[in-house]
Amino acid sequence: MTVNNIDERLDKLVTQYPIIDTHNDFPYALRLHLHNEIKTKEFNFDSLLTSHTDLIRMREGKIGIQFFSCFIECKDDDYLYQDFNKPNSAVRDTLEQIDVVQRLVDEYSHSFKFVYTADEALKSFRETKGKKISVTLGVEGLHQVDLSLAVVRQYYALGVRYITLTHNCDNPFATAASSVTGGLPDKGLSDYGRDCVKEMNRLGMMVDLSHVSHKTMLDVLEVTQAPVIFSHSSVYKLSKHERNVRDDVLKLVKDNGGVVCVNFYPDFLIQEGHSDITIEDAVDHIKYIINLIGWDHVGFGSDFDGMPCGPVGLEDVSKYPTLVKKVWEATNANEEDIIKMMGLNVLRVWKECELVSNNLKNKISPIETNWDQRKWIFSEYCKQMPVLFPGVEDVIENKNIYVNHHE
Ligand SMILES: [Zn+2]
Repeated sequence: MTVNNIDERLDKLVTQYPIIDTHNDFPYALRLHLHNEIKTKEFNFDSLLTSHTDLIRMREGKIGIQFFSCFIECKDDDYLYQDFNKPNSAVRDTLEQIDVVQRLVDEYSHSFKFVYTADEALKSFRETKGKKISVTLGVEGLHQVDLSLAVVRQYYALGVRYITLTHNCDNPFATAASSVTGGLPDKGLSDYGRDCVKEMNRLGMMVDLSHVSHKTMLDVLEVTQAPVIFSHSSVYKLSKHERNVRDDVLKLVKDNGGVVCVNFYPDFLIQEGHSDITIEDAVDHIKYIINLIGWDHVGFGSDFDGMPCGPVGLEDVSKYPTLVKKVWEATNANEEDIIKMMGLNVLRVWKECELVSNNLKNKISPIETNWDQRKWIFSEYCKQMPVLFPGVEDVIENKNIYVNHHE
């Protein structure tokens, strides 16, 4: 196949099938630099910005469906020792990030549509011939639900479609890759984490395994009833970073029907002997996954605006077609495989999670379990409140703590 031929065919393909990016951190740039005041007159998303992401380059990059990350960092300064009984602002801050994406979509509604299902995303892409970018959300770590499954449910109601089980700290649900790097034991998924995966399956919330430890990946793949995603992860064999995906996990992802969306963050693409990290390194990681487990399990999860700068040749959101073309040239694949990598794999996983949810919702109720180490603190005054029914104190295992607030 000649290079020209690929160019022409790709130009046509991107009008028929969406390119999907499962991890763009631009909402964090709005928080960091504008405190989310996007109506500030100096800010125009439809102009060339100096960040990695703006509408002009998203159009150039032929993005069809964008998952914007609603990321808030772990709250305790020491990432290795977080106290989840200490009140923190993670939920408020996450809600602000969800809100700013929804306002951005409204403000630029000529080019964006907020979508809630895989079918809706594809339908909007087709109806607008790719002119409108479908937008949906991911939350980057269960520390952002604090310690409550109720928050998982409410995030889903607000349009969040995946949650990463950890960021760079352990939480009541699971162990993070960076904690293991930091010397802590790899405890994998906790019992409460198992409940959470079950609840995410029930809701149709995709379980994202980027950032988690090796044992967490294995534990989740054993218990999940739906396919998983890695919203932004690369290959361990090529770049030995704890959060990259090892071969044993990749093979399990094939059995599970999940998808690994390759991260463009240079630190996680770097290969031995390479000094400059380029687009070719991203191609190598993609090819590695394809060779090991096939074309059904690969996608793109850039990390744009969540890293200082992208690899050479893959600097911003305008570069997806260049990447697709390079993989196409390197593999001589057929069009069916190319469109899976571009986005159909992610859409398939999203849709399957919805189908699993439809099935589970008929069988199980919302999971009410609480974290067994949670401290339930009430005012001394509450002891004077009427009792719900005789013997109610013996019903719950984790007893209340009463404190005097009036001293
Ligand atoms: Zn990340």
